[in-house]
Amino acid sequence: MEGWEGGEPAIGIDLGTTYSCVAVWKHDRIEIITNDQGNRTTPSCVAFTDVERLIGDGAKNQIARNPANTVFNAKRLIGRRFSEVMVQEDIKLMPFRVIQGPSDMPKVVVTHKGLEQQFSIEEISSMVLAKMKEIAEAYIGGTVKNAVITVPAYFNDCQRQATKDAATIAGLNVVRMINEPTAAAIAYGVDNKFGGKKNVLIFDLGGGTFDVSILTIDGEGKFEVKAVAGDTHLGGEDFDNRMVNYCVEDFKKKWNKDLTGNERALGRLKVACEKAKRILSYDTQTSVELEVLLDGIDFSMKITRAKFEELNMSFFTKCIKQLEACLADANMKKGSVDEVILVGGSTRIQKIQRMLHEFFDGKELCKSINPDEAVAYGAAVMAANLCGQTTKMIKELVLLDVTPLSLGKEIIGERMQVVIPRNTPIPTKKTMNFVTTADNQSSTDIMVYQGERTRSTDNFLLGSFEISGIPPAPKGVAVLEDCFEIDVNGILTVTSKVVSTGKTKSLTVTNLSGRLSKRQIKKMVKAAEKFKLEDQEFKRKAEACNALEDYIYDLKNKIKRNDIPPKDLKNVQHAIDDTEEWLSTGNVASVDEIERKKEILEFISRLAIF
Ligand code: AMP
Repeated sequence: MEGWEGGEPAIGIDLGTTYSCVAVWKHDRIEIITNDQGNRTTPSCVAFTDVERLIGDGAKNQIARNPANTVFNAKRLIGRRFSEVMVQEDIKLMPFRVIQGPSDMPKVVVTHKGLEQQFSIEEISSMVLAKMKEIAEAYIGGTVKNAVITVPAYFNDCQRQATKDAATIAGLNVVRMINEPTAAAIAYGVDNKFGGKKNVLIFDLGGGTFDVSILTIDGEGKFEVKAVAGDTHLGGEDFDNRMVNYCVEDFKKKWNKDLTGNERALGRLKVACEKAKRILSYDTQTSVELEVLLDGIDFSMKITRAKFEELNMSFFTKCIKQLEACLADANMKKGSVDEVILVGGSTRIQKIQRMLHEFFDGKELCKSINPDEAVAYGAAVMAANLCGQTTKMIKELVLLDVTPLSLGKEIIGERMQVVIPRNTPIPTKKTMNFVTTADNQSSTDIMVYQGERTRSTDNFLLGSFEISGIPPAPKGVAVLEDCFEIDVNGILTVTSKVVSTGKTKSLTVTNLSGRLSKRQIKKMVKAAEKFKLEDQEFKRKAEACNALEDYIYDLKNKIKRNDIPPKDLKNVQHAIDDTEEWLSTGNVASVDEIERKKEILEFISRLAIF
């Protein structure tokens, strides 16, 4: 592992909704690592087939053929409950099956090697993370354990925890989780591209999430997040879906046929629409063309950039509204924003760039770092910084992050009592005293919520616990001290103490409702290892088969060139036919068997060569 300063390398991973990206600090600069297909981003997609498991490009490329067993958009489901309205809405658009698992956790159901199998969302995300780890290891030439992983600023505690669990299953040690916009700001700020103190706005519109954040960079390595806003459910996928719906209507109008029930047709349409959308960022017109889309009918439809913009205008306007909300939260006028950084593949859409340009009265937007890579870039800087691998400049990097949503507990009247307001710099620890609300009350439930609504139940319930053993006292006398503590990763621990006795009880991250238990994670780590071995075996088998087929091909050429003596021709031809038939049955059992077949062929042909 030559070229790695300060010990074991640590990587930065942007675990995206649609694509993921991995980067590492090497020779005093950031290297975005290309995958085995030569791509700098890898689809966050996992597919299960009759014979193998595919992750990344391989999975995405076969999605139209195998939509029910190709899982994508796991990030939309991670750390969420199956019964959430948003999850139910998402599932409707997912061509694979999602069911309600224990503790209301969503589970994905696929058919793999002919058997029905269930996976938690953490497991699916762990497969993507394991792929990113593998990509990094191939580049580095050694094992990688430590990683900084990014999450959208709007992720709540459960979503952050579930992401961390996914990393554990993938065999990674998360040295820090940082917000995606913060990572992007680090990417731009690390070379002090801005110079001096600056207010920076990060506009991050990716495949499935939208984040807008305002940070201040002081020019000496200090980044402070002032405010965050956004929508965990807005991005390129939504634009694709609007286009798909438009095509479905067009098909209905032209042919009086409904595509909606046909998953394969919808899958193909989605891939074609995404491609057309990308083209429309550069051309003003393109077409969606698909042969034999349904009942032998070919589909062809022209679409202009103007039409695409019209279809998605409500989404674009929503982005600007969130931008305004973020500025208001940061108590900042748009004129005070020094730099606007574009992050996420969807910021390539011309209309978005135009709207931002106009909103900021003609300001030039920062686009010099590839918008797909800025987050991983910043994460890798942070990883190197935390693992002591970098130059002085990065060593001095100080990160001040904030909690994106208010945290508090339910009080009488189903009201939310905020203990840590949103946008409080983290890590933080806040305590608040509460009194009993009834005479001789001996216990109370602490319901911990995250969100901005006044009514507690309108917010997100992170978990609850009961504290008992309160000594008898009149109402309003016994005091409970509740302590809310957020660590550097944005993860919360709540502790409640009966002041008179000192008795405490905590809601720790490991027993939040809807989380995986330590035992479950351990089991999943084992399953992931088994999967890895199976994948390796499959790869070895494929390589052995290829070598055998190549050998047969060479032998056939030798026969054509008359390089085999006539007396042996029959023998060799027979051996070839026999091997080809064996290969075509598809019952190839093991690498050893394939290699044995090749050895036999080699033996027969060696005997036969002039
Ligand atoms: P990200 O989550 O940042 O990887 O962004 C992925 C999203 O960006 C996907 O929805 C892509 O379809 C979208 N995207 C990538 N390139 C373009 C482009 N040239 N024009 C419009 N959208 C794009």
